[in-house]
Amino acid sequence: MRFFEKIFFIPGFVNCYLIERDEYCILIDAGMSKKAKKITQKISEQCPNKILKAIFVTHAHQDHTAGLKTLVRLYDSEIISHKKESGYIMKTEEFPTRGGFSGFMFKLLDKIMAIPACNVDKLVEDNEIVHGLRILHLPGHTPGTIALEDIETQALFCNDIINTNKEGTAILPPDKNYALDYDQAINSSIKMFQTSNPKAIMPGHGSPILEPEESIKLYLEEYKKV
Ligand SMILES: [Zn+2]
Repeated sequence: MRFFEKIFFIPGFVNCYLIERDEYCILIDAGMSKKAKKITQKISEQCPNKILKAIFVTHAHQDHTAGLKTLVRLYDSEIISHKKESGYIMKTEEFPTRGGFSGFMFKLLDKIMAIPACNVDKLVEDNEIVHGLRILHLPGHTPGTIALEDIETQALFCNDIINTNKEGTAILPPDKNYALDYDQAINSSIKMFQTSNPKAIMPGHGSPILEPEESIKLYLEEYKKV
């Protein structure tokens, strides 16, 4: 599925997105370990003569980062994240969890998946523009969660800040079980739509939504009052 000429969708349990620039390409999220193969295939098909210059990590959850190390070994790409997330990716800080069942699951997954620490090469801040993407720091799901807005196309990569349904017709709220601070996550999702005017929504889970104005309006009506 192709939404824009230079944005390539790599679907799965976690969606990743490959973006072609003039001289190189960049990736948004690495996904699970097995995703690395799909990503390398997509790069050789769509950007065969370009290097994967950078990988943006929207947040440090295992399902978005497990494939990082493999990709860095293959492409020597620079890893980019928000400063509040970098310690978790580099494993110099323990990931904060809410406790309870989801906290237990996160800790267990971390042990089972044994995701290696990965160096973060570049830290980004709210409103900065890097490789043609505007950074929106929107904490709640995790402390350093970022959305990325492609300046050229106004496609908005919003990972787990919201979810969408599988038909790609509705925006759903962030998952309560996995948000570190649910109220903050809801507020961040509202702020995201108030500070950007996306032509497409590219989520971490679910299907992308093209021409999302109506879906955004419905989402804001439902969740602004919460
Ligand atoms: Zn997540």
